[in-house]
Amino acid sequence: MSRMLIAGNWKMNLTREEALSLTGKLVSTLSEQRAVDVVLCPPFCYIPLVFQGIKGSTIRLGAQNCHPEPRGAFTGEVSAAMLESMEVQFCIVGHSERRQNFGEDDAFIARKIDALLEEGIWPILCVGETLEERKADKTWSVVSGQLKSCLEHVSAEEVSRIAVAYEPVWAIGTGESAIPQQAEEIHSKIREYLKETYGTGSAEATRIIYGGSVDGENAPEMLNQANINGALVGGASLDVEEFEKIVKAAAEA
Ligand code: PEP
Repeated sequence: MSRMLIAGNWKMNLTREEALSLTGKLVSTLSEQRAVDVVLCPPFCYIPLVFQGIKGSTIRLGAQNCHPEPRGAFTGEVSAAMLESMEVQFCIVGHSERRQNFGEDDAFIARKIDALLEEGIWPILCVGETLEERKADKTWSVVSGQLKSCLEHVSAEEVSRIAVAYEPVWAIGTGESAIPQQAEEIHSKIREYLKETYGTGSAEATRIIYGGSVDGENAPEMLNQANINGALVGGASLDVEEFEKIVKAAAEA
């Protein structure tokens, strides 16, 4: 069984002082735990200070996005190569907020994954359906389509370095989490898809994590589902006590 992964997506939140304070508190409450991979994904500008803050602890550093090209005329963007030079170990790609607000499509996300793997950074690939798609009974066709296109160039050796985050769009930032059985149904289909495409060994080693209004209360049941190997946490990652409860639930799952 793979190690649980709990990643905090801070999104575009926190002042510099708040970021420093949150990092310090998380290090003091979580630095002893070794059972779970805990990753913090701050905004780009706070990466150096979070890097300094978590030094010597078991907490790892992630980013929220990257550009597939290593350098060039892409004003405002940050490349996977630059993240690697800042010792970033994980990077979220394909988040629904980027798909919706910045028009990112699967082909572009696939290129980001290629660039991250090339740099030795572990991608966290978000997939998930909108409410309209769920109501139209299109959940699996949407999720499987995103997997197929975003992982187009990925080999069986590489796939276990990717964490697939199933994030139903209707559950993100809404306070309305999927019920654990709903999430598990899609997670088990994702596992099957990975088995058929990459073989059982690679599929079993690939972490499939859930995202969408995870908090301290719903985490224990969610993380006890057979194919849920962790969580991508937005809102609750900004609250030390909530985040700590989620990590504890992962350690006990
Ligand atoms: C997310 O942004 O990936 C997310 C899951 O957010 P929240 O936990 O706030 O729903």
